[in-house]
Amino acid sequence: MKEIVLYNSLTREKEVFKPIKEGEVGMYSCGPTVYNYAHIGNFRAYVFSDLLRRVLEDYGYNVKLVMNLTDVDDKTIKNSKENHISLNEYTKKYKEAFFEDIKTLGIKKASVNPAATDHIKEMIDIIELLKKNGHTYEADGSVYFKISTFPQYGELANLDKQELLEGASGRVLNDEYDKENASDFVLWKAYTEEDGDVYWDSPFGKGRPGWHIECSAMSCKYLGKHFDIHTGGVDNKFPHHENEIAQNEAAFNEKFVNYWLHCEHLIVDGEKMSKSKGNFYTLRDLLDKGLSKEAIRYSLINSHYRKQLNFTIEGIKQSQSAIDRVNDFVFRLKDINKTDTNEINDKLSKEIDEANDKFSDSVYNDLNISEALGVLFTLIKNANTSFDSINNETRDKMIKFIERVNNIINCFKINDEEENKDDEEEINKLIEERSLAKKEKNYQKADEIRNKLLSMGIEIMDTPQGVKWKRK
Ligand code: AMP
Ligand code: ZN
Repeated sequence: MKEIVLYNSLTREKEVFKPIKEGEVGMYSCGPTVYNYAHIGNFRAYVFSDLLRRVLEDYGYNVKLVMNLTDVDDKTIKNSKENHISLNEYTKKYKEAFFEDIKTLGIKKASVNPAATDHIKEMIDIIELLKKNGHTYEADGSVYFKISTFPQYGELANLDKQELLEGASGRVLNDEYDKENASDFVLWKAYTEEDGDVYWDSPFGKGRPGWHIECSAMSCKYLGKHFDIHTGGVDNKFPHHENEIAQNEAAFNEKFVNYWLHCEHLIVDGEKMSKSKGNFYTLRDLLDKGLSKEAIRYSLINSHYRKQLNFTIEGIKQSQSAIDRVNDFVFRLKDINKTDTNEINDKLSKEIDEANDKFSDSVYNDLNISEALGVLFTLIKNANTSFDSINNETRDKMIKFIERVNNIINCFKINDEEENKDDEEEINKLIEERSLAKKEKNYQKADEIRNKLLSMGIEIMDTPQGVKWKRK
């Protein structure tokens, strides 16, 4: 049996993956802060965790994925106040948008999506344990984790121990800060006027949790104190994940996570895509440009997760060509109806077996997806040279292989009949909306709707008999 090998950020080495419980994987991925629409850089992190999950499932594991929703922090509180609505009302909109977006991107839903505001009690419990174990102190009504009480602090981010001892004297109330300022971090923030009506009572006084304790409490509740895999973007490594490790291991005195996996950033013109830099696209922005959800997913998936991904619209268009090549091949395969056997089919059948084998070698080797896709395209190229000889048996075997690939990539149309049914209602609704917009001479809106339909793979034609549509 082949083995799955993953690069563990904690040991900085590739390691053979061995689950704690045979056949099962417990996995936690840091989810979105629901203060706005997630941008396409955020989605790289979620598509990566989806890819990892699908590869583990391909191997035969039963994966339990937990992805949290950060629905209380400085940004959500500030924005809800500016909009004069409650925190819950404000975050609800972005929680819903997030679920809609991950569905669009073909990301499988997590087994649980716990929201931070539903787990305040669990967070308080861990802070109390940390206090009991001598890892905390209070200052100005807030509770801090004292990093000097946890000798392993800095292992994940590979911080220099000596520098830490000399330099880590301060404390931070902010949730995010850089490596150069490793400091005691906040577990419970004392209430300030700025928090408005957002606060909880606790044994440490009125206030709210720090960001890091949220993930500690929710991962441990749904996956146990010790679980297999934790993922996030590289920017989560420090301080967020470092602090999670400190909190859990200092509270429970046992190992927290066996494998830490981090995906590199999606960058634009050499810089990380981020809200604060203003260099971002949301998924909706891209769909409005007429780009397909499959091509966007493919672009996010097809380069290695530990390499920076340079985002370009041109790249998404190239992804579309790759997808079209596969879809076109499958479409033609389905038309085959031949029963005669011959050497060409024997040879192709052997090539499909080899492709399956090589595909496993690639994806099980730390998710080498470009190599895995290379296997698929080489097979298609070879099959195309003798396409007219393919018989039904080879056809079925080939489709089965592409289905396997697609269970992981999830960008190709193999069995689109089912999908067709459940989007017709939406297509008709959009066409109606477009007709109405045209009647009202709102041509910009009409164009936007046409582009949205295009991104769904729907082409519309205005005819004297009314609007007609077809799938591209
Ligand atoms: P946030 O909502 O900022 O907490 O980010 C949610 C997730 O998206 C985290 O795992 C981040 O590491 C990840 N992330 C944010 N920006 C990028 C980016 N440009 N490329 C890849 N991942 C990102
Ligand atoms: Zn987290």
